[in-house]
Amino acid sequence: MGKVTGFLEYERLEEGYEAVEKRLKNYKEFVIGLKPEQAKIQGARCMDCGTPFCNNGCPVNNIIPDFNDLVYRGDWQNAINVLHSTNNFPEFTGRICPAPCEAACVLNINNDPVGIKSIEHAIIDRAWAEGWVVPQPAAVRSGKKVAVVGAGPAGMAAAQQLARAGHDVTVFEKNDTVGGLLRFGIPDFKMDKSHIDRRVKQMEAEGVVFKTNTIVGELPKGSKVTNWATQSVTPAQLQKEFDAVLLTGGAEQSRDLPVPGRDLAGIHFAMEFLPQQNRVNAGVKVKDQIRADGKNVIVIGGGDTGSDCVGTSNRHGAKSVIQFELMPMPPEQENKELTWPYWPYKLRTSSSHEEGCEREFAIATKEFIGENGKVSGVKTVRVEFKDGKFNEVAGTEQVLKADLVLLAMGFVSPVETVLSGFGVDKDARGNAKATVDAVGGYATNVSKVFAAGDIRRGQSLVVWAIREGRQAARAVDEFLMGSSALPR
Ligand SMILES: Cc1cc2nc3c(=O)[nH]c(=O)nc-3n(C[C@H](O)[C@H](O)[C@H](O)COP(=O)(O)OP(=O)(O)OC[C@H]3O[C@@H](n4cnc5c(N)ncnc54)[C@H](O)[C@@H]3O)c2cc1C
Ligand code: SF4
Repeated sequence: MGKVTGFLEYERLEEGYEAVEKRLKNYKEFVIGLKPEQAKIQGARCMDCGTPFCNNGCPVNNIIPDFNDLVYRGDWQNAINVLHSTNNFPEFTGRICPAPCEAACVLNINNDPVGIKSIEHAIIDRAWAEGWVVPQPAAVRSGKKVAVVGAGPAGMAAAQQLARAGHDVTVFEKNDTVGGLLRFGIPDFKMDKSHIDRRVKQMEAEGVVFKTNTIVGELPKGSKVTNWATQSVTPAQLQKEFDAVLLTGGAEQSRDLPVPGRDLAGIHFAMEFLPQQNRVNAGVKVKDQIRADGKNVIVIGGGDTGSDCVGTSNRHGAKSVIQFELMPMPPEQENKELTWPYWPYKLRTSSSHEEGCEREFAIATKEFIGENGKVSGVKTVRVEFKDGKFNEVAGTEQVLKADLVLLAMGFVSPVETVLSGFGVDKDARGNAKATVDAVGGYATNVSKVFAAGDIRRGQSLVVWAIREGRQAARAVDEFLMGSSALPR
C-alpha cells in the first residue's frame, strides 16, 4: 500500500486549470497535470483498504491500489504496466473519464477521495514521455480475419486486443479520421486529438489496418450524423470476406425536439456544431461553419454534450450562453451515507460552466420563435415532476432571446440502418441485442457478427466503450480459436 498514515497526513490535490481568460482564447487542453512529487503524495493517500471498491467502481476495473502504491514508491514503469493491463488508452480516460472510481473510494466516505484519475493521467503522460509505450505485435499470427465496423474507443480497444492476439484486423470507419466521438464530439480543449493519432500509429505498427472514409452499408436519406465516406462496402461483403465482424458503430442518432418552429434556421444538433469546430482545429476548411460569435446561444440539455456546446460557444465569443435542463436542480452535496459507493446524484459544474453560462433547471421548451425564417427566441415554461410526469407550472411561460439553439438532449440509439443492414436484432431501445455474459456474450443473432460499445449498451462513456471493446475482443477470439488468453 501507499504510506500507512498517508491518508491522515495529506490532503487531496486537484489538478490545476489555466485561467479562464487565457484558455478561452484557444481550443487547447488547459488542465495542468500533477507533477511526479504531487502524484506520489496522492498515491500515499491510498489506504489499501482491503476491499478496493474503486476497482469495482471503475468500468475497466483498473487495479488502482497497486498503481497508487507503485507511484508512491516511484516505480512508474511498473505503474504503467499495471494500468495498461486493464486499460488500452489511459490517456483518454485520464483526461475525460468522470471517475466513478473516486465516488467509490473508501476514503470518500468521510473525507475527499484519492485523486485516482489525476494519478492515472500522470502515469500515462510520463510513460509516453519516457518512450515506454511501444507497439506490441503478436509473436504468432492466427491467419484469421476480423472486421471492426466503427473506429470509436470501443472499436479501437477491440482492434488492439484482437491484433495482439494475432488476428488480421481491419477497421472500417465512415469518417475521415479515427476516434469516433472522441475525435468529433469531445472538444479539443478536453482532449487533444494528438493522443488518438499516437495510438493509431501504435496500432498500425501492431498490424491493424484502418480504412477511413469507408462506410459499411448506408445511412438513411437526410441523416445528419458525421459521414465523410467516399466509398462503401456492403455488410454481405464483410460477412463473406472476414471470419468475424464486430459492430462498434456507436449510438449516433441524436434526440430531436419536435416542437413548433423546429425547422427554423439556427437550430442545430450538438453533433452538427461540435464536429465542425474540431475539424477547423485540425486544419480542415469547413464551409458555412455554425458559429456562435456575438449570438445569444441557448443550449438545450444539461449533460456533458451540452456543457461542451457551452465551452465551444464561449470560445467562439458568444454574447450570452444559457443551458436548459428539464430536471430540477440537484443538491450541491450528495448524502454520502445513502449514495456511497455508487455514482451520486448531485450538481455537477464543469469547467465549461465556470467559463460563463447561466443554467436554468426545471424548464421545458414549448416553441421556437422566428423572424424571417431564423430563430429569434425560445418560448419556455417551468415544469415540476409529479406523479411520474412533468407538469407545466401555470403562469411561468416566457420567451428568451436566441440567435442559435443547440440541441444536446442525448442520443436515442444507433442509426437504424447500421443494424438492419446486417439483420441484427434490436433490444427495446433500438440498440444491438447482445448480452455481456462470459459465454456467448457480445454475439448478436447473426452468425459471426458481434456488437460492443454504445451500439450495444446505448449512449454511455468512453471507459465503458473501452471495457466493452476489450471484452468483445475476447469473445471474438474465443469464437475463432475455441479459447482465449485475452483478459475479460
Ligand atoms: C459531445 C460529447 C461529449 C462527450 N463527453 C464525454 C466525456 O467527457 N467522457 C466520457 O467518458 N464520454 C463522453 N462522451 C461519450 C463517449 O464519447 C461515447 O460513449 C463513446 O465515444 C462511445 O464509443 P463507441 O466506440 O461505442 O462509439 P463512437 O465513439 O460513437 O464511435 C462509433 C464510430 O463508428 C462509426 N460508424 C458508425 N456506423 C458506421 C458504418 N456503418 N460504417 C463505418 N463506420 C461507422 C462512426 O462514424 C464512429 O466513428 C461524450 C459524447 C459526446 C457526443
Ligand atoms: S478509467 Fe475512469 S473510473 Fe477507471 S480509474 Fe480511470 S478515472 Fe477512474
